[in-house]
Amino acid sequence: MATPNGFLPELTGSISQGAAGNPTVAMIEAAYAHHGLPWRYVNMEVAPEDLRDAVRGLRAVGFRGFNCSLPHKVTVIDHLDGLGESAAVMGAVNCVVRRGERLIGENTDGKGFLKSLRAQVDPRGCSVVLFGAGGAARAIAVELALAGAGHITVVNRSASRGDELVTLLRDRVGVASELVEWRGDHVVPPDADIVINATSIGLYDADARLPIEPASLRPDMVVADVIGNPPRTRLIRDAEARGCRVLDGLGMLVNQGAVAIRFWMGIDPDSGIMRRALEQALGLAGER
Ligand code: NDP
Repeated sequence: MATPNGFLPELTGSISQGAAGNPTVAMIEAAYAHHGLPWRYVNMEVAPEDLRDAVRGLRAVGFRGFNCSLPHKVTVIDHLDGLGESAAVMGAVNCVVRRGERLIGENTDGKGFLKSLRAQVDPRGCSVVLFGAGGAARAIAVELALAGAGHITVVNRSASRGDELVTLLRDRVGVASELVEWRGDHVVPPDADIVINATSIGLYDADARLPIEPASLRPDMVVADVIGNPPRTRLIRDAEARGCRVLDGLGMLVNQGAVAIRFWMGIDPDSGIMRRALEQALGLAGER
């Protein structure tokens, strides 16, 4: 993007290890270009031992904010001045926002999901079945609980990880929650309103099957998948075939970017432009 002579661009970006090929760079820069903003989004490789210096450097040169990905989501907290509500509950930050002179850690993983979900249903009072208990599941569950979800059933293969999430939800956010250990095909109870795959099953494999009984999905349920590549997972296709409303993982990723831009710049970017740029960067353009 051309920057008028005499003006410095506003800086945002991403820090991670293994940063090369991050497809969200194209998505966020497309939004800046579309809205005619002389902002930049810079993709930066940062090793764990350099994290402290990297954050000091970004602070010194006036970055307006930056995303942080693996392996910095927890360790970055030591270098920040405060945390947003959900990031504090999760103990993980993936988006840093400059507010005055302070760097505040936020978490957009769950907020991106919630923004996608709200286009279909208000989660207040809803009964949720959540598959998985890793980082994505934790972020989604905490945001759903803060948004007033009525009950969250966590279905996870490993009981210890599942227990940890259920305890966090009950003790830190005060939502009714229970763990179901995942053994064989899970039958989704008929009173579930929202069903979410937050495991890594389906990543890079459109035919990978989530162990659930597809016939237990009913048309009045909203079914979401965190997997963005490919976006049309087997779960999404099965749920569509049963008449459910569906949300794919690409929408969640786009909305994470939109939430970050809103935090940094205070505008709501055009998510259609962002999705098209992301699809192109992932080589998915034309797929549907
Ligand atoms: P984690 O490694 O933290 O967690 C993985 C989860 O998947 C665990 O609950 C694990 O269960 C479960 N799991 C993995 N394989 C299986 C299996 N074969 N059977 C049953 N359960 C399984 O990963 P994250 O939570 O960080 O990420 C999960 C997925 O979410 C990734 O694919 C990632 O790409 C996607 N994601 C998408 C985002 C988006 O914006 N669309 C944002 C963030 C993540 P167990 O505890 O038993 O090991």
